[in-house]
Amino acid sequence: MPELPELQAHAERLDERYAGAMLARFTPLTFTALKTAVPPATDAHGHDLVFVGRRGKYLLFDFGTLTFVVHLMQGGRIREEPPDKQPAKPKTGVARWTFDDGRALLLTEAGTERRAGVWAVGGDPEGQPPLEGLGPDADSVDPAHLLTLLHERPMRLHGWLRDQHGVAGLGRRLANEICHRAKLSPYVSTSKLSAADAEALVEAIHASINESLAYERGRDDMSSSADRPGSVHHREGDACPVCGDTIRAVEYRSYTIDYCPTCQTGGKVLADNTTSKFLK
Ligand SMILES: [Zn+2]
Repeated sequence: MPELPELQAHAERLDERYAGAMLARFTPLTFTALKTAVPPATDAHGHDLVFVGRRGKYLLFDFGTLTFVVHLMQGGRIREEPPDKQPAKPKTGVARWTFDDGRALLLTEAGTERRAGVWAVGGDPEGQPPLEGLGPDADSVDPAHLLTLLHERPMRLHGWLRDQHGVAGLGRRLANEICHRAKLSPYVSTSKLSAADAEALVEAIHASINESLAYERGRDDMSSSADRPGSVHHREGDACPVCGDTIRAVEYRSYTIDYCPTCQTGGKVLADNTTSKFLK
């Protein structure tokens, strides 16, 4: 799933190309595309796109009167459509924004999950669904703030980083990379982390996000997950670039925890989900 850096670079590209364009119409293409009924999406018709932004793992299309908040989930993408290539029923199409200059942006979703969606939100979207309850963006907190947030919601660190309520914008890949950079076990309880750990985590968050952002900004479109930079994510069996130990993995139904025993767990190999309660 695209995370903060991929979405940030995506928003920047779209902003550069579409800010100032007037919306002719917004068209949901599936029954589940638009998650809100009020205000009507037509409120944005005839208004200029003020900017394309990002909050957490959401894209924001701000039309002044109304903001479209878009979640791509796993397989969603925003495709650019030139004037002569806008089929009425595009394959995998979810919703379309058509501009009065003839261009359009098409939200597509690969696969059959149908979970990508659009919220039309009046006023400041912060604090309103779907952004309601999101923690601050992961790259916006200092160590003291992060330590407070970590202690507020005691969870395993890897799960906490992915949760969106503590901090927003991180997913499975960056959680793996951040735990590795901070030299912390993915299973350590956030209630046990110290000020020094919080400092290491803030450094790791910034380094991981900046590395991905630099890569992503150098591209013309969003990367696929296999291309994204990193040291441990999906690198089970490879040598750790820091210490040379073998990267290990713990498999879960919908994600994998990848880590380096020497760097992160004092050499201990983590067991699977069912026995991990015995590990400290
Ligand atoms: Zn290592």
